[in-house]
Amino acid sequence: MSIVRNIVHSRRRKRIANTNGLLTADLIKKADEPACTEAALALPIGIPAYLASRLQGRNTNDPLIRQFVPNPSENTLMENEFPDPIGDRKHSPVSGIIHRYPDRVLLMPVLACPVYCRFCFRRHSVGDGLLTDEKLNTAFSYIEENPDIWEVILTGGDPLILSPSRLSKILIRLNKIPHVRTIRIHSRVPALDPIRIDNEMINALKTKKPIWLVLHSNHADELDSKASVAIAKLIDNGIPMLSQTVLLKGVNDTPKDLENLFRTLIENRVKPYYLHHGDLAKGTSHFRTTLSSGRKLMKWLRRRLSGIAQPVYVLDIPGGHGKVPAGHCWIESKSEGEWIAEDISGKKHKYFDEIEPN
Ligand code: SF4
Repeated sequence: MSIVRNIVHSRRRKRIANTNGLLTADLIKKADEPACTEAALALPIGIPAYLASRLQGRNTNDPLIRQFVPNPSENTLMENEFPDPIGDRKHSPVSGIIHRYPDRVLLMPVLACPVYCRFCFRRHSVGDGLLTDEKLNTAFSYIEENPDIWEVILTGGDPLILSPSRLSKILIRLNKIPHVRTIRIHSRVPALDPIRIDNEMINALKTKKPIWLVLHSNHADELDSKASVAIAKLIDNGIPMLSQTVLLKGVNDTPKDLENLFRTLIENRVKPYYLHHGDLAKGTSHFRTTLSSGRKLMKWLRRRLSGIAQPVYVLDIPGGHGKVPAGHCWIESKSEGEWIAEDISGKKHKYFDEIEPN
């Protein structure tokens, strides 16, 4: 039985099957099929038709194949990996809501994605499908009852996998909550399933309150001409875009790959926002780099790249303690009011606080 049929018939995790069986099956034949079947029980396989057609003929070391086609290494579990590495459950007061920071919540209306990334940190929940109307209503009530919530971040899953009419209903409801002043959407769709960004979707995204779209993009090769058109359509219709990238071994962990990605994003008017250190998700050790190699990459980029193309390198502290900057520290305290600042060539300079006496 092909791996695709194995996944379709797997009831163990009630996972969604891939969207383009034959093409995906072809791609998986390059890997170890039984091991990949096992990997697919932990995280479904899903590759949209357009992306699958782009993957044809590529080898197993290709950065896009590595991201989306299961690999037997996913079955290697490390001692310090966790099913819920960033502690989502701990901060979930009701289904579909994660409230980790005081002024913002994640709202997860759908736990399905157009494509399943093999390094996914939310592999414990993605693939579970739509939040029911009842649960969605409870999630809205939670937001309505908490006036400190200034920003709602639609994530999942991928919110742009929803139909424009369902997405529009969600955005209309959020627009009616006075204390919610801004909405953010995290998505891979504009790059990996760009045909979804049609006029209907654009109309759904046009709301009174500002919407920011954060594109999840890990390699410049994801941003082909169709992706550029979809991104331009969003931005030209008043939706500013940022990006988030996961640092992944064998995908983008070289200075050249990161430089290309961040330059390509800026050339598409997308501001690089976060470079995430890989989370301790189960079965993802083959993707992780060390923190010190991530810092070296960021230091190198600081020497090479324009400030507008620099993301913040962040670590999500395991256990639900939130994100913190993880990059190289360029300024160190020497004594009260005295600092040592390192320039981009590595030379150290003294700096003194000079402030008006009280
Ligand atoms: S799009 Fe995001 S949530 Fe979905 S599989 Fe990829 S990393 Fe996970």
